[in-house]
Amino acid sequence: MPRPALRSRRLRRTQTRTPGGKHVVHYEKRLASKPRCAICGKPLQGIDEARVKTRHVSGLTVSRPYGGYICHRCLALALRMAVRLSST
Ligand SMILES: [Zn+2]
Repeated sequence: MPRPALRSRRLRRTQTRTPGGKHVVHYEKRLASKPRCAICGKPLQGIDEARVKTRHVSGLTVSRPYGGYICHRCLALALRMAVRLSST
């Protein structure tokens, strides 16, 4: 029986084989939800889907203005709208 803090489903469970050949349960933080565009809500491209909240991995952002926050389609549309509104 695991200790009381590990009995809740807060952490996800993974079966791991140890060097000694035993199968043990490891407790990990759950996967974060998929990052989505703030305007249209579509999943963002180029950002790691399998990121784990604890581990810092590359692929968390895109090198573009508002990269990792809005998608490329919404950014292109917003830039066009800004230019059109400023020219009048
Ligand atoms: Zn979008």
